[in-house]
Amino acid sequence: MRGLSSVPSYVVMQPTTLCNLDCAYCYLPFRAADRRMPVGVAEAVAETVNHWASTARFSVVWHGGEPLAAGREQLAALMAPFAPGVEHHVQTNATLIDDTWCEFFVAHRMRVSVSVDGPRERNGERVTRAGQPAYDRIVRGVAALRRHGLPFSALAVVNDPSPGRATELYDYFLDLGCEVLGVNIEETEGVNIRANAHDAAAVTGFWAELVSAWRRDPRIHLREVEWSLRYAGAVLDGTADALLPGRLDPIPTVAYDGSVVVLSPELAGFTDPRYGDFTSGNVLTTPLHTILAGADRTAWVGEFVDGVEACRASCPYFGFCGGGHAANRYFELGRFDGTETEHCRNSKIRLLEGVLEHARDHQSPGA
Ligand code: SF4
Repeated sequence: MRGLSSVPSYVVMQPTTLCNLDCAYCYLPFRAADRRMPVGVAEAVAETVNHWASTARFSVVWHGGEPLAAGREQLAALMAPFAPGVEHHVQTNATLIDDTWCEFFVAHRMRVSVSVDGPRERNGERVTRAGQPAYDRIVRGVAALRRHGLPFSALAVVNDPSPGRATELYDYFLDLGCEVLGVNIEETEGVNIRANAHDAAAVTGFWAELVSAWRRDPRIHLREVEWSLRYAGAVLDGTADALLPGRLDPIPTVAYDGSVVVLSPELAGFTDPRYGDFTSGNVLTTPLHTILAGADRTAWVGEFVDGVEACRASCPYFGFCGGGHAANRYFELGRFDGTETEHCRNSKIRLLEGVLEHARDHQSPGA
């Protein structure tokens, strides 16, 4: 794995910076402002994306702010330039979903992922702009999806990986009816400066318990556990080296104004005296494929690639992790060429350790 690929597996688009919620752990700097993406930005992105989608499966992920806060008319206008084969996904807080939005998702074949942190009492951080709990509105939105028979994924943030939490979480999402679940341990990034260091044994235990809960009733695709099992299987088969891509996926985020940040959406909207505004170009002046072809030359990206190589040279978990996320390095370490972060300890190292702990605890005697 050396440098960035010039073709990503998907593009993230920010239709508006605005979010109607004000969650305590949110990383977004401009979520109180309604800065909307002009259609010209989507047209410029579509020129490149439609070409990629003509030869391979390709996705656009609409991610805000709260993308639905842009409104149906605006979102439809932004989606219109993309070819029919392009797959559209939306990451939403679900509070605005109603029957009309569900009809929109069906008409536009849009796949939905909702953000919810588990049962009501675990959603205390998810609040409206007036500071009121958002949970009832979230579950109303999810109920609308279910009424319309729309499959959905879910993303949960865990800020206290303590005993019992994993079982509670998994059982909750079984009842909620999602098809895929992603679990994020809260991260220190963007405007969220809360510490994310946890007791190592507690986090490892959390992941081990999550595997146990999943194995009892594996109806949900559990993102992190499936990654880990795929890696463990590949190690046993001797094919683990083939799991890492040859080059890093650039995962471009196109901000509302057309500026492009690669690798980490969380860097969009920030500036630093050393790295400037982290952007690699703007689709209003340069085609997206040209921006990505030269993204390796963005100052901070070169430093990040050095950091990935430092991980490769020093970390026994590199084959599983692939070198971590740019934003976590920057917001935790202040630079991109460091290696371990609290995020990678919580969500890579202890995840793999947790899966192995579960395997050890459930080994058959004599095996
Ligand atoms: S686990 Fe951390 S130190 Fe190891 S490869 Fe990943 S980011 Fe680097």
